[in-house]
Amino acid sequence: MTILYTRSEIEKKVSEKKQQNLSIGFVPTMGALHEGHASLIELALKKHPFIIVSVFVNPTQFNNASDLEKYPRTLKEDTSFLSVYGSKVCIYAPSPKEIYGSKIIAKQYNFGGIENVMEGTHRPGHFDGVGTVLNHLFRQIRPDEAFFGEKDFQQLQIVRRLVKIEKLPLSITGCPIHRQENGLAMSSRNARLTQEQLEKAPFIYKTLLQVKNDFGTKSALNHKKWVQAQFKKNPDLNLEYFEISNIKNLSPLSRKRKHQKYRAFIAVYAGEIRLIDNIALN
Ligand code: AMP
Repeated sequence: MTILYTRSEIEKKVSEKKQQNLSIGFVPTMGALHEGHASLIELALKKHPFIIVSVFVNPTQFNNASDLEKYPRTLKEDTSFLSVYGSKVCIYAPSPKEIYGSKIIAKQYNFGGIENVMEGTHRPGHFDGVGTVLNHLFRQIRPDEAFFGEKDFQQLQIVRRLVKIEKLPLSITGCPIHRQENGLAMSSRNARLTQEQLEKAPFIYKTLLQVKNDFGTKSALNHKKWVQAQFKKNPDLNLEYFEISNIKNLSPLSRKRKHQKYRAFIAVYAGEIRLIDNIALN
């Protein structure tokens, strides 16, 4: 398993592959890799002979210093996790300096408003940080295609807009949410949950499934009230937001329109660990 640490190393590797006419798939991550990440890599490997997985905990997308500090960093384990893929996969694990140079700052983006709802409301500046780091990574790696999980569905839609704004020549592919058998969406943050929290957390997906089941039988407001009531009965999980939104512009559902697709989005705290999830409703 090759690990590259610097911008010049990755640019050299990319040039080599391009000279050999090999297409490059890219899976950006913050590490602490799990089966959810692996599902993206496997999809990427079906379409490209060579995949770059970046492992970079991006400081500019954290609005909470303690969350950044406590984010799991497990490069050694991540390397052995990816070793099954052999030379088809290479890790890029840069320092902040290799990405940002001497000034670790985020560019300010206008993503047409989709940056101001849900995650954007609760994590100010988050999507500027995401957009900035991906813009740098895309320019260094020059992938043909980049793969993102629908687990972070709002981020996926932001990235689609980012490549248009930055006029970047790559395609963006969304990949299904990978879940544990009990329904809990896999996440690097799950590693920080206690055993008790791990047992409670599948309630999040159960609630989303019930919303999906009831979709069309009540108003968005009544769905929201129902979800709020469920979490009141479950004091170990603290509901931050629940929204039903149009998948394209992420605007909250007021009146259901024909031929439009909707998803339900949720953010929940288990203790100090913030978990997000979403589900397609129609
Ligand atoms: P992260 O390391 O959490 O920043 O995630 C890196 C990429 O993996 C993002 O595109 C995520 O949406 C995706 N991802 C994380 N967890 C899952 C999951 N459970 N299922 C599918 N994709 C995921």
